[in-house]
Amino acid sequence: MATPETLHQWDFDHVWHPFTQASEWEAEGEPLIIEAGVGCTLMDVHGNQYLDGISSLWTNVHGHNHPVINQAIEAQLNRVAHSTLLGQAGRPSIELARQLSLLLESIPGTTAPLRRTFFSDSGSTAVEVALKMAFQFHQQTGQQQRTRFAALTEAYHGDTIGSVSVGGIDLFHQIYRPMLFDGVRIPAPDRPDPTAEADCLTEAAALFKAHGDDIAALVVEPLVQGAAGMRMHSPEYLSTLIDMARTAGALVICDEVAVGFGRTGTMFAMEQVQRRPDIICLAKGISGGYLPIAATVVSDTIYDAFRGPYADYKTLFHGHTYTGNALACASALASLQVFEEEGTLAQLPPKIEALQAALAALPATHVAEVRQKGMMGAAVLRHNRGAEARVGHRVAMAARRHGVIVRPLGDAIIFMPPLSITALEIETLGFAVGAAITEVLEG
Ligand SMILES: *Cc1c(COP(=O)(O)O)cnc(C)c1O
Repeated sequence: MATPETLHQWDFDHVWHPFTQASEWEAEGEPLIIEAGVGCTLMDVHGNQYLDGISSLWTNVHGHNHPVINQAIEAQLNRVAHSTLLGQAGRPSIELARQLSLLLESIPGTTAPLRRTFFSDSGSTAVEVALKMAFQFHQQTGQQQRTRFAALTEAYHGDTIGSVSVGGIDLFHQIYRPMLFDGVRIPAPDRPDPTAEADCLTEAAALFKAHGDDIAALVVEPLVQGAAGMRMHSPEYLSTLIDMARTAGALVICDEVAVGFGRTGTMFAMEQVQRRPDIICLAKGISGGYLPIAATVVSDTIYDAFRGPYADYKTLFHGHTYTGNALACASALASLQVFEEEGTLAQLPPKIEALQAALAALPATHVAEVRQKGMMGAAVLRHNRGAEARVGHRVAMAARRHGVIVRPLGDAIIFMPPLSITALEIETLGFAVGAAITEVLEG
């Protein structure tokens, strides 16, 4: 086995890290190299322990190395690791698709239920295929002019070209503009302020009036725009927007990649909005944070528009090699089983309160604002040092020295621990980040 020093060198020589400036990465010296994890704790190659305050980028739900999920993956591994869904089917993907359709009954609505799952491997691909489905749906139902998408300002839906096209974060997306298709940009508030939301909705109404006939679908991250730094809106804002989109004849795509699987306190955020989308995108927490898998779940109204004689070419011409991977589906099924066995959702309220208390206890002089929805939180730092000072990043690095892993989005320090975290661990997380903020901003 390579020594930590060798791994460090090989990382610098061979790994391209996502969303990372190589020069900065190298200037910071030895990277944090994770070797193991258990519960909400990760261990590095030197044996140091860290509380995983971001659920390994918003994916982990029940903790690392969970015996039930481990065992389910092992059992599946001893049967078969992968077989294709092109031209054949597989036991775990069938069972998972059925489970998802039952689970999604929790979202109320008058439109057709979400019963049909298309599997892929990341949130980006889940959104990418949703866009193609919505576009093709209209092509095949006599609405060929519906070729554009409406999305929120500051939206983030992934990093493939289609999902970037509906994205609105200039820092990430601006450079790629010449490669992207253009859409209708709907204003969204940064927090659920009634006046700001009313203004946004007035503008939205005008946009739907002007462009409604050309819009294939409205795409939204319900309740929390995660990557934008945890911008939040009320269920009422979103239900009104969805009603506008539907009145205009557009489909509704909900990207629950970040908010799904209990993050906002309910299994799906759309349960709180009381509107059932035509297409829902699920990834991140779906496998409990174990393996890459994503689901794009659609109503029969969508699916049936793709039926017909072969020669009509109404087929969805899209697929990924590892679609419906057996190990990943097994991990997702096991994660759903753990939700039941451990009463994960029922146990959330005191943890959500603990997170609220931890955010409130951060040093007020250096925190301009905190935002929270369920088990998603953000503390926006107050300072006058400019973006190049990378204050958020420096706070995250300082927090590491206090034994916790957090990751900033600009000046927002993100709190997104596994749902299995204890109230005590949340307090520890808060103390560590608080100490880090003081160190950086008073240092
Ligand atoms: C993370 C994220 C994505 C992209 O998922 P990947 O698995 O990183 O491709 C899409 N939408 C939302 C809301 C996300 O938070």
